Amino acid sequence: AHLDRIRAVEPQVKAYTLVTDDLALKQAEEADRRIASGEDLSPLTGIPIAIKDVICTKDIPTTCGSRMLENFKPPYNATVMEKLNKAGAVMLGKTNMDEFAMGSSTEHSAFFPTHNPWDLERAPGGSSGGSAAAVAAGMAMGAYGTDTGGSIRQPGSLCNVVGLKPTYGRVSRFGLVAFASSLDQIGPFTRNAQDAALMLQAVAGYDAQDATSSPQPVTDYTKELTGNIKGLRIGVPREYWVEGIQPGVEKVVREGIERLRELGAELVDVSLPHTKYGLAAYYIVAPAEASANLARYDGVKYGYSYRETSDMWEAMEKTRQYGFGAEVKRRIMLGTYALSAGYYDAYYKRAEQVRTLIKQDFVNVFKKVDALVSPTCPTVAFKLGEITDPYQMYLQDMFTIPANLAGICGVSIPAGFSEGLPVGLQLLGNDFAEGTILRIADAFQ
Ligand code: GLN
Repeated sequence: AHLDRIRAVEPQVKAYTLVTDDLALKQAEEADRRIASGEDLSPLTGIPIAIKDVICTKDIPTTCGSRMLENFKPPYNATVMEKLNKAGAVMLGKTNMDEFAMGSSTEHSAFFPTHNPWDLERAPGGSSGGSAAAVAAGMAMGAYGTDTGGSIRQPGSLCNVVGLKPTYGRVSRFGLVAFASSLDQIGPFTRNAQDAALMLQAVAGYDAQDATSSPQPVTDYTKELTGNIKGLRIGVPREYWVEGIQPGVEKVVREGIERLRELGAELVDVSLPHTKYGLAAYYIVAPAEASANLARYDGVKYGYSYRETSDMWEAMEKTRQYGFGAEVKRRIMLGTYALSAGYYDAYYKRAEQVRTLIKQDFVNVFKKVDALVSPTCPTVAFKLGEITDPYQMYLQDMFTIPANLAGICGVSIPAGFSEGLPVGLQLLGNDFAEGTILRIADAFQ
């Protein structure tokens, strides 16, 4: 049924870089066999899902939305893929994304933009726009994406699906192609909080192959979905209601907050005073890490290689000139500049200090409240081609970035519509409080 649906709507939406139909049918048959025998079942056995094309799939192209990796087939699976395969999940295909996950619209894909299923002239958000659009258009029951500065929550908001960024270290990054290693996390897109709980459960947990993986035990997320949020204290951060937020978005989110109150939560006015520095700190830290991580694409080890010269330096330069798109080059330039001798203290070190202040804001506020509520992003889905100024695009992430800098978890949930377009509400939770924010999300629906 999902492959039929893909055949019907994928030509308009373009959520997938690759549909693995033969593999999906084979995995579905195997799942049928497992279900019939009753052995070794998991909640994801036989469930058709999509995977962002930045997660390594053994012998299956993993492009990262880049010419650089257009023909790259990883020799191994990401830990997340190993877990999904063991669970018997069915992979429908790999989903489109901004090149190396840098962007908020999926327009930076080297191949084609993805269209928002709610209005095909609009962007689905990004960078995990393909995963969000696939779930929103019924082309997958769920999908995995990655969130470095908002790339799960923002497209979730723009496409009207649930998008969960787990706590840093909750899900293994082994086999996730690195963008900014201290910020990246893999998480699910689903239609509701129950599915998000199941999809997080399937991939969460310690992994010795990821040095930043957390040994914290994984709780049973589904058990935490009690439907009851009476007495929970939910903070409304003052700093998240700023100029630039569309009035229609603010209205829907304010109504959502009222709904949380009706459900029995206690809303508390709180302050996260360093919020306004989040964007600036992120756009130093993330490009700095990206510039180091992307140094590996030199045309020698893997990926695209410029071969029309015998000069080593020219080969490396041209490989990067032709292999990377404009946004990726911008980030590498920014990052190498911020890390260069003489500027390191002024930019990188300072940004990391600001990051500590932002983390401290959250540490302080989570002494008083169980979760926070805010808009996910300041706008509804914008038209493809409408945002051409990179700084304008970066503003999409102003409400999502602080969580990545602090490492805490967050989820965007559908909250309503403004002029026919979806609006997401963001719930932020303390480290490893995924169960709490999913409980609120579940009660809200
Ligand atoms: N839009 C942000 C960026 O371009 C976040 C991307 C992400 O979370 N991968 O860096």
